Amino acid sequence: MGSWGVPAFSPPEVLLLGPGPSNPDPRTLLALARPTIGHLDPRFVQMMDQTRSLLRFAFQCKHSMTLPLSAPASAAMEFAFVNLLAAGDRALICTNGVFGQRMAEIARRRGAIVQCLDFEWGRAIDPEAVQKALQIGAPPRLLAFVQAETSTGAQSDAATLCRLAHQAGALTIVDSVTALGGTPVEAGMWEADLCYAGSQKCLSAPPGLAPLSIAPRALEQIQMRTDSCASWFFDAGLLDAYWSESRQSRSYHHTAPVNQLYALHQSLQLLEEEGLEEAWQRHRRVHKQLLEGLGTLGLQLLPPEEERLPQLNAVLVPEGVDEAAIRRRLLLEHDIEIGGGLGPLAGKVWRIGLMGYNARPACVERVLLALSRVLERSL
Ligand code: PLP
Repeated sequence: MGSWGVPAFSPPEVLLLGPGPSNPDPRTLLALARPTIGHLDPRFVQMMDQTRSLLRFAFQCKHSMTLPLSAPASAAMEFAFVNLLAAGDRALICTNGVFGQRMAEIARRRGAIVQCLDFEWGRAIDPEAVQKALQIGAPPRLLAFVQAETSTGAQSDAATLCRLAHQAGALTIVDSVTALGGTPVEAGMWEADLCYAGSQKCLSAPPGLAPLSIAPRALEQIQMRTDSCASWFFDAGLLDAYWSESRQSRSYHHTAPVNQLYALHQSLQLLEEEGLEEAWQRHRRVHKQLLEGLGTLGLQLLPPEEERLPQLNAVLVPEGVDEAAIRRRLLLEHDIEIGGGLGPLAGKVWRIGLMGYNARPACVERVLLALSRVLERSL
């Protein structure tokens, strides 16, 4: 301990079954502790190239501009709008939870004319309503939506929404933060123009990096801009040059979070080893296991069956139960973190995430047992 009397921080072991972060795979945590090397070291550069290839695998696309942004997923959201929107552009934004609303707020701050299409929280985005909105007046520059709405546990049909936007001549921004690695994200097949995710959810890596992928069509539009990007750090052209696979054109942009990138590389390697299909099935299996257990406790999920995300379960809090007290006891007595509701769902739902490394039967058994004990004592 130094003269300021501050001891070393030693965090408790908590089972993270909330909306994220989830517990990284232990092998990924070990990767964080590997020796730091220079971010321009050729061996590091080689690892950056491999990370890009692994991300193309995860996003199921061949887009050259696929990379992890050195920032949390909200920054990828900001990156998307600052590169694809100019002041005065029209943006159609679907909102069925907190993160759709965040998209709208970012687009507004960008100076865009934002039209929000609001949907009930806990429900998927309705493609018919989107199609109607796209047909009114001149097409918007882009359609933006959240594929996996972590605040409500609802999953929307990204393939259909991208198709409708393209038919109307609009670009698409797809938030796949909670989806990537847990449910299908097919950025290539959907022709999603800009799709982004987060490291801390179904990828089993620590928080702080935001993988993203830009389709060639959107990249062309970005390259054709005559004004410079309003953000220096998020300028897609500068970042692309930094992450360029060609040794000659790679140019310094910022100091990469070296060890964080080791962890992401490791987690993607593990995902590749497991296989995407198997990872998606694993998430579905534990979701079913959780659902059965919740059923025996008399608990139900908010979204209708066909609109549910397997990796994020919004559980309705029974009448008369103190939502926050249950969460607090799960944390303090059982070392399990689950999430509470946000916005209009505050106090009304618990959010149980079974993401990435935590999408395992043992995690489900542990949370069900703990939940049954704390609920028993609260009634
Ligand atoms: N989008 C969605 C769907 C999210 O769930 C989150 C975080 O939970 C974000 C964006 C923002 O991610 P971050 O907290 O890493 O900035």
